[in-house]
Amino acid sequence: MTLTPRAGILDIAPYVGGEAKIPGVEKPIRLASNESALGPSPKAMAAYHAHAADMFRYPDGGSTALRHTLAKHYGISADRIVCGAGSDDIIHLLTCAYAGPGDEVLYGKHGFSIYPIAALQAGAKAVAVPETNLTFDVDATLARVTPKTKVVFIANPNNPTGTFIPRDEMKRLHAGLPKSVLLVIDSAYGEFVTRNDYDTGMEMAGTEPNVVMTRTFSKIYAMGGLRLGWSYTSAEITDVLNRVRNPFNVSSAAQAAGIAALEDVAAVDRAREHNDVWRPWFEQEMKALGLDVTPSVANFVLIKFPAAPKSADAAWEFLRARGILVRKVGVYHLPEYLRVTIGTEVEMRAVVAAIGDFLRSS
Ligand SMILES: *Cc1c(COP(=O)(O)O)cnc(C)c1O
Repeated sequence: MTLTPRAGILDIAPYVGGEAKIPGVEKPIRLASNESALGPSPKAMAAYHAHAADMFRYPDGGSTALRHTLAKHYGISADRIVCGAGSDDIIHLLTCAYAGPGDEVLYGKHGFSIYPIAALQAGAKAVAVPETNLTFDVDATLARVTPKTKVVFIANPNNPTGTFIPRDEMKRLHAGLPKSVLLVIDSAYGEFVTRNDYDTGMEMAGTEPNVVMTRTFSKIYAMGGLRLGWSYTSAEITDVLNRVRNPFNVSSAAQAAGIAALEDVAAVDRAREHNDVWRPWFEQEMKALGLDVTPSVANFVLIKFPAAPKSADAAWEFLRARGILVRKVGVYHLPEYLRVTIGTEVEMRAVVAAIGDFLRSS
C-alpha cells in the first residue's frame, strides 16, 4: 500500500496568486493582487517595528487587545470575534468544521477561488452555481440547495468580478436558506464600497446564528504580507472556531500592527478616496478604448478583451513586457478578461497608456 492523501485532496488545483516579479525588471508595476495603492499606515509600520525585541515571546493566542480594538471600532462584541492568519485561515477552518465527505459547499461560478479549495480540503464537494451578469445569483443558489448543502460562500463584493449584491438581496439569500446551512459573507473589500444599498453583513452576523462575516487587513489596510483577518459571528460558531483554530494563529507583530492600523482612520479614508477617484477614471479610460468594463465597487476592475490577436492573454504578455503585472482570470472561467488593481496615479496612467498601445499595435 502506498501513502495517499484523503479522497479529494489531489483534485485540488493549487491556488495561483498574482505574479510579483518579472525577470530583468527591478520594480515592476504590480496591479495583480488588489493591494491598496497607498501602502500601509505609517502607524502600523511603526507598531510592527516596535515589536521586534519582543519576538521571542509567544503571541497572545486569543488576540485579546486586537479583538477589543475591533469591537470598539465597529461597536460589536469582542467575544464574538476570532482573528486568523488572514481571512483565508478562517475560511478553511469554517469549511472543515461544517462540511465533510458527502456534503456540498456552494459558491458563485466566478467566486473567489479559495472556496472550492477549502471545500475539497474538507473532503466535501464544491458546487459552482451559475451567475447572472457576472454577479452572484440568489435564486440560482437557493435552487441548488439540497439536504447535502452545508456551507454557502459569497464574497461581497466579489473577487475577481468587482460586483456585489445589495443588502436586501443578502437578506433574501439568508431567509431562503435552511437554518442548518452556514452562510459565509466574505467582505474582504467592504471598506472600499461607498454605495448606500450595500453593507458588510455585520448586522446579520450579529443576529443570525448561522451567518459569519469575514474581514481582512490585506486589502484596504495593505498588510497582506503580515497575514491578518478576522470573523464576526454567533457565540456558537465563535466557540467552534476557537476549538479548531491553531492556538497561536496570529503573530504578535500582526496583532500590534492591526491595532495601530485600525486607529489610523485617516489612512483608510485616504485609501478609499484615492480609489473613488482612480477606479472611475480607469473604467472611463477603458471604455474610451472600446473595451467592456464590468462595473466594480471594489479596488480592481475586470476588463474584457476582444478575440485574438487582441486577446486577454496577448494583452497580459504585452503589459508584462512593459513591466506591468495584471491578473489573468482563466481559473475563474473568465479567459477573455484581465483583472486590474487600482494603483497609484502614475501606475494607472502607465497601464492605460500600455493598453492603448497594445490595442493600436499590429
Ligand atoms: C484577498 C481576499 C481575501 C483575503 O485573504 P487574506 O487571507 O485575508 O489575505 C478574502 N476573500 C477575498 C474575496 C479576497 O479577494
